[in-house]
Amino acid sequence: MNAESNATPPAANVAPSDFIRDIVAQDLAAGRHPEGIVTRFPPEPNGYLHIGHAKSICLNFGIALENGGRCHLRMDDTNPAKEDIEYVESITADVKWLISGWADSVLGLKPKGAKPAAEGGDFRIRPVPGAENTSSAAELEPFFASDYLEQLYAYAERLIEKGKAYVCDLSPKETDEYRGAPDKPGKNSPFRDRSVAENLDLFRRMRAGEFPDGARTLRAKIDMAAPNVWLRDPLLYRIRHIDHHHAGSGWCVYPLYDYAHCLSDYLEGVTHSVCTLEFEVHRPLYEWLLGALDLPRVLPRQYEFAKLHLAYTIVSKRKLLQLVNEKVVSGWDDPRMPTLAGIRRRGVPASALRRFVTGVGVTKFDSLTELAVYENAVREELNASAHRRFGVLRPLKIILVNLAPDEVVECSAGNLPSDPAAGSRTLALTREVYIESEDFAEVPPPKYFRLKPGGEVRLKYAGIIKCEEIVKDASGAIAEIRCTFDRDTRTGQPGADRKVKGTIHWVSASLAVEAEVRLYDRLFTVPEPGDAEDFLKVLNPNSLEILTAKLEPCLSGATPGQSFQFERLGYFTPDAKDSAAGRPVFNRTITLKDTWAK
Ligand code: ATP
Ligand code: MG
Repeated sequence: MNAESNATPPAANVAPSDFIRDIVAQDLAAGRHPEGIVTRFPPEPNGYLHIGHAKSICLNFGIALENGGRCHLRMDDTNPAKEDIEYVESITADVKWLISGWADSVLGLKPKGAKPAAEGGDFRIRPVPGAENTSSAAELEPFFASDYLEQLYAYAERLIEKGKAYVCDLSPKETDEYRGAPDKPGKNSPFRDRSVAENLDLFRRMRAGEFPDGARTLRAKIDMAAPNVWLRDPLLYRIRHIDHHHAGSGWCVYPLYDYAHCLSDYLEGVTHSVCTLEFEVHRPLYEWLLGALDLPRVLPRQYEFAKLHLAYTIVSKRKLLQLVNEKVVSGWDDPRMPTLAGIRRRGVPASALRRFVTGVGVTKFDSLTELAVYENAVREELNASAHRRFGVLRPLKIILVNLAPDEVVECSAGNLPSDPAAGSRTLALTREVYIESEDFAEVPPPKYFRLKPGGEVRLKYAGIIKCEEIVKDASGAIAEIRCTFDRDTRTGQPGADRKVKGTIHWVSASLAVEAEVRLYDRLFTVPEPGDAEDFLKVLNPNSLEILTAKLEPCLSGATPGQSFQFERLGYFTPDAKDSAAGRPVFNRTITLKDTWAK
């Protein structure tokens, strides 16, 4: 795959433009959609959403938003064997998180359990206008393809009546053999010429549960010699004696994706059905099915774009499920996972993710997006908003010998250097402080400007200290460093401007809050783990490091959803699951610089 080297995300305020948006604009100009633009995001609830889905969400919701339209979150849930209510719930929460504060107003919802109603002989389901703003929002829910099972079934009978579908008794294996190959035409099924009456009778008995799983299928009658194998009498329905997580226990025949999808789009009044390139070969079938039914309203049209592929990242639900099942990660929401749940828990703001996926753009060509593009979008967003704090990850104790044991030197520190309106907080310098171990070198390399024997360094916002003595324990390890504090170099004092080459962060040892800090790194060591023979063999063994850190006291009150820059270290957020009152756990969202860049 081509690597895209442009590592700079576009400014957040540039309106996106691409070939799909051009088509929408042309359709509107031609008056094709007097009722407005309707798009949809249709995940199958068989896993958690990942960063690739974010691209599709932002595209579909973005188009609706830019055109005063509507976007439906639809569970494409007609294969109950692989689906689960846990996924329905996570998908709904993740989509709401991603569009919150941006495209909430175009999210189409509907009353719980609402099914398509007949309008002039034509089925249709309508969302509640502005539903998300009503006081009864709890009574609303996304769209479910499984709410349309009755209508989809009725459409199937109509296809049979028109002689465009038949019940086939070939086994799954025989069906495959009859289908042929791209370069070899298929063979007609021996059941292809059943009468309408026989087909209707058998299909009704399929629905009534008379036959076991796999015994019969309903197939479209198209062309077994079509060059496009998807048109070789594709399966529309199969028998599955299994309850449905949303639709309940009334069904034992379930429609397949191609059949359910185009008709769900139609029932919801979707105008532009935007999906990824692998569905390009399905488009003729999408159009055939809608055309075969002679439907009265304007038909939806399908458009395809290239998937998002991000370097060092897996974007396949199946493989992500494997990481969960094999306990490589702690769950779908492990902060190392490229799932929206993991990304959120890691502390990436939804706005940064939107900015990233929108910046990557929408094309018809597969390419690999460099991780730096994503990381830079996250850094830019957090840099502008995250309040600065001090945290020491690997503490080394400093004794300021000329401070009294109970003395407190109050130092004022701005929350956001670029924005005085963000206010400030007070840091307390006390006799014992912690600095980062790596900010001291007993035998300093050349040009080492941090603390060293006999050397001076500035404690940011406090003043200059000088290393006077190294105290070691019985094993010879450094136990503490004894320093003097130059009070004259405090802010507002005559020596405040005195220059030293190094400035470091610190926290008061007596006042610091102790916290578990989790340092995350990329999960894989190769740019395209999805292409590796075994992606479980290219895991980064150092993707998680857990430390006990000392943090500025006010961080004990931090809540999940807040982001902080620990100065000189990176961006951190309280973990939403494992933080407890007075005992916070912080996740590192991202480092300040790309530590992998050479
Ligand atoms: P996976 O391959 O991970 O299982 P999927 O395509 O099967 O993903 P769906 O639930 O069918 O998952 O996806 C919902 C929508 O998201 C589809 O329209 C699909 O085209 C789109 N989508 C999935 N992966 C990506 C991606 N990497 N980039 C952009 N859109 C994607
Ligand atoms: Mg899919």
